[in-house]
Amino acid sequence: MPEAGALARFRGALIGSAVGDAIGELAGVHNDRQSLLDWLDEGDMLRYTDDTAMAIGLAEAMSSASGVDQQVIGETFKRNYGKEPWRDYSSSTPAVFATARRHEISFAEAAQRLHGGEGSFGNGAAMRIAPLGVLYRHSAKLREAAEASARVTHAHPIGIDGAAIMAWMVAQAAKANGKFPFADIVMGMIGFAQTKEMRLKLAQVVELIAKKAPPAEAAVALKLSQKVHESLPFSIYAFLRHPNSFQECLFTAILNGGDEDTLGAMAGAMSGAYLGIDAIPLDWQERIENRDHLEALAERLARLPVD
Ligand SMILES: [Mg+2]
Repeated sequence: MPEAGALARFRGALIGSAVGDAIGELAGVHNDRQSLLDWLDEGDMLRYTDDTAMAIGLAEAMSSASGVDQQVIGETFKRNYGKEPWRDYSSSTPAVFATARRHEISFAEAAQRLHGGEGSFGNGAAMRIAPLGVLYRHSAKLREAAEASARVTHAHPIGIDGAAIMAWMVAQAAKANGKFPFADIVMGMIGFAQTKEMRLKLAQVVELIAKKAPPAEAAVALKLSQKVHESLPFSIYAFLRHPNSFQECLFTAILNGGDEDTLGAMAGAMSGAYLGIDAIPLDWQERIENRDHLEALAERLARLPVD
């Protein structure tokens, strides 16, 4: 049996990430706080992008395979992409499906062939991993599971490390149960990183938080791009700067440029996993696209036993 409040963490992570993705995408157009708030007041449906489509795919695959099975994950991603190719996917996602099919190789082998055999270090494996982070929050296999899920599309060590760190952060947030062990988290995340690129960036995040650096300064220092080591660290900064407010965490993540929808998806997942579903403004929860399916997946994952 999961601990009390576990379902609220699954719901918080899944819906928080979807809301962050959708509002982050809007911030690409309405890029100051007031115009974003004005747009949100209009009351339209919040539409998510590939980040949430792939988080849904990962959650579906883990619930049908009772854990991480790379082939099931890849087939689920491919099927979902086929139904909704317009969700602003990066071109490397369908490239993996096409290469796997053409050469009759696994998705992971196809992912290894991207970028001249180096694999991708984009943020695509990290942006979707929140459901896995909550599911494996108590498991010693968290890193192994995170890496396996990442390798379906991302073979570069930085792309894989970024995904594992994001899963670890979501797991810590979900386990903290409202009491944030700040010192443990910041030291733990640096120790958990395995590439020097991620370790250096996380150390910078800790310095920026310690000196209360404003977001604009942090954005410049950490650099913002679609690379995982130039996006995930800024989302972690936003979460650590505003651990007790979903909205402030999200707005910090998305109103300083960069890959806004993914910054929002990652920050929203950490904040939602930490604070639980009730911290997400109700109006946003109600307007997120496909909410019933996200809720159903959260319930299914919350009941899934993991060793
Ligand atoms: Mg996206």
